[in-house]
Amino acid sequence: MKKDKALVVFSGGQDSTTCLFWALEHFKEVHTITFTYGQRHSNEVDAARKIASDAGVDFHPVDITQIASIGKNSLTDSSMEMDKEKPAGSVPNTFVPGRNLFFLSIAAVYARESGIYDIVTGVSQTDFSGYPDCRDTFIRSMNVSLNLAMDSQFVIHTPLMWLDKAQTWALADRLGVFELVRNETITCYNGVSGNGCGHCPACRLRNEGLRKCLENKGK
Ligand code: ZN
Repeated sequence: MKKDKALVVFSGGQDSTTCLFWALEHFKEVHTITFTYGQRHSNEVDAARKIASDAGVDFHPVDITQIASIGKNSLTDSSMEMDKEKPAGSVPNTFVPGRNLFFLSIAAVYARESGIYDIVTGVSQTDFSGYPDCRDTFIRSMNVSLNLAMDSQFVIHTPLMWLDKAQTWALADRLGVFELVRNETITCYNGVSGNGCGHCPACRLRNEGLRKCLENKGK
């Protein structure tokens, strides 16, 4: 039986779009929240808006540029060149410090106002770029903190936590949105939709997963 309502932290990328359709399978009513924080490419937000509208779910954009501007990173600062590889002992400079901490805090406050206690986020520690706020332990700790902070019983769902990119493609396929995810989402750090620019770290991860998924399908 479907549960009541869920809020999806939604960016219009492959992972959160897959999570949106996962949520539609498990919940009667699905809402989305999308954060703008000076991403280099605002067409990500346009893609998110269109996907949400086509799926018939509520779309709620929130501008957190001020919060994101505190930290320095190459996703929002176009004067910095993006790290192509993960530097030894550090995170790539595409890391926006505290991003999921902010996202989940704001999402939970918004959810609570809307009487929603199930929050879905597309983080995964399998294809781990070294982002500490994508790890399962962080999400669990955040879930406890949100419950204590608001004396509530939130449940944070992470359907992709233990999936690699090929398995995330397979999940989109099972949910019947393989082509939608392939053509309409934007994962590329250079803001190119669908298959993307092909050479940024996000594209390489996404396309490698797609290649493996198609190979498995062919078997
Ligand atoms: Zn790219």
